[in-house]
Amino acid sequence: MHLAPYDLHTHTTCSDGALSPEELVDRAVARGVGTLAITDHDTVAAWPAAVARSGDNLALVCGIELSARWGSLEVHVVGLNITPDTPQLTHGIALQRTAREERARRIAHRLSRRRVPEPLEGARRHAGTGIIGRPHFAAHLVECGLVPDRKTAFKRYLGRGKVGDVRTEWPDLNTVTQWIHAAGGQAVLAHPLKYNVSATKRRALLSAFCDAGGDAVEVVSGHQHPDMTAHVAALCKRFDLMGSVGSDFHSPQHSWSDLGCGLELPRSVTPVWAAWA
Ligand code: AMP
Ligand code: MN
Ligand code: MN
Ligand code: MN
Repeated sequence: MHLAPYDLHTHTTCSDGALSPEELVDRAVARGVGTLAITDHDTVAAWPAAVARSGDNLALVCGIELSARWGSLEVHVVGLNITPDTPQLTHGIALQRTAREERARRIAHRLSRRRVPEPLEGARRHAGTGIIGRPHFAAHLVECGLVPDRKTAFKRYLGRGKVGDVRTEWPDLNTVTQWIHAAGGQAVLAHPLKYNVSATKRRALLSAFCDAGGDAVEVVSGHQHPDMTAHVAALCKRFDLMGSVGSDFHSPQHSWSDLGCGLELPRSVTPVWAAWA
């Protein structure tokens, strides 16, 4: 059974989140979330621990946030209500892990030429047993005293056009959608307003996502102005896609996007969870 309110986009220490799967489940319950999807970057490792922790008052949905490529743009596709140990998805996750490891080596090489001390070791330490990502390099740069905070680390070292911005051969939209569908889930285009593109290009992205078999769009992503929600809801209608909502929660320190906060899907949009009944 799935219960309102829904938060269908969250992270744990298995990727770049601050809370363990158990801590995330506890926080979701404490904040009155009824249905929670854990959607770590390119991994479902949090699932067993989260299931073991959750009780009757929280419905858990198995999810993932897959990095994908559309043209020269890096986009994120959330898979929801997936069966985690499906062979095709497991194969896809292994490819993503390899791509992330390879990318981490290249980022580290470039950072070391900028005299950042031991970047790969530092990032790995911050990733722990979780999948490695740029936020772990950001944490290392902060720790080394090179930047005051992670945001500045992205601005100066890791963001678009900076030294740590390396081209990664992520799979295309068709491929990630197929992995999600093979696992019995729905493919959701994550945070459509966070890609730095024109409105025309955003519509082209949605069109390509539909052609790839995409099912839904994140209508509400974290703390968002109602005008923006209405804008994405209209895109949903136009492309006949279902809608999802998620905080994209990473850490309790980011109080502007806490679990379950302000995540109401407009009534005009068919919820992605309608497919789960
Ligand atoms: P990756 O998946 O390794 O490419 O890292 C992307 C992640 O970095 C996103 O999911 C965010 O959690 C985080 N991120 C992206 N941009 C920024 C930023 N400007 N400041 C802080 N964190 C960021
Ligand atoms: Mn992240
Ligand atoms: Mn994302
Ligand atoms: Mn996310």
